[in-house]
Amino acid sequence: MSTLLEVSGVSVSFDGFKAINNLSFRIGPAEMRAIIGPNGAGKTTFMDIITGKTRPDEGRVIWGEKSVSLLNMSEAKIAQAGVGRKFQRPTVFEDQTVFDNLLLALKKDRSPLSVLFYRRSNEDREKVHSLAEEIGLTSQLERKSGELSHGQKQWLEIGMLLAQEPMLLLVDEPAAGMTPEEREHTTSILVQAAKTRAVVVVEHDMEFVRRLECRVTVLHEGSVLAEGSLDHVTKNQDVIDVYLGR
Ligand code: ADP
Repeated sequence: MSTLLEVSGVSVSFDGFKAINNLSFRIGPAEMRAIIGPNGAGKTTFMDIITGKTRPDEGRVIWGEKSVSLLNMSEAKIAQAGVGRKFQRPTVFEDQTVFDNLLLALKKDRSPLSVLFYRRSNEDREKVHSLAEEIGLTSQLERKSGELSHGQKQWLEIGMLLAQEPMLLLVDEPAAGMTPEEREHTTSILVQAAKTRAVVVVEHDMEFVRRLECRVTVLHEGSVLAEGSLDHVTKNQDVIDVYLGR
């Protein structure tokens, strides 16, 4: 199986405390992976290492067909190389329409005024329509983003990330605060997205993870405690002990 991202033996300490401890991880180019683990397990720090926000004290982070090291690259360069990250709080332009938000996301120059020029391009308009279809917001294209529901805003932001054609999408708790129907829709967006790119979902909600039907990595104290299907990892005694706080 080919590899898109390979992290090996990575460690990070904050003031002598090892937040990430000899962690290794790999993901293929069209793979969905859920990362779970109790609070403080190191999930956020691990995502920060991949995006270049936090630099590890040791270990390797190798990317893509050419096996380049992400450790020598700035956050901006890592994003350009194809790593997209979605945080919990959506960062859409609330006073712009869904259409214009998606249009701006296709571009490097994001100043809202540039939208006037971008709207003229048929090619860009088609791309916006296809993105809207991917995230299920075709009927909302002319609405101001600020009027969207919480779930719709989250989907819009996923669409805005997809506009940049990432090869790896990192998503932090995408289902938080959503209704069951919204969760269902979020699942299908992510499953669809993972057909053509790698998707890593950090999630607390086990029912949501189950629906993703993907391999699960359990982090604990900055290391991988278990890896495999959700059924496999939830039967692991170490995982049970950690979740029950033993
Ligand atoms: P998770 O996302 O799984 O809840 P984090 O990656 O946020 O875990 O944190 C892992 C551990 O590292 C925690 O104990 C946290 O307090 C610590 N930590 C994270 N970032 C910092 C930081 N910038 N300075 C000091 N400690 C940190």
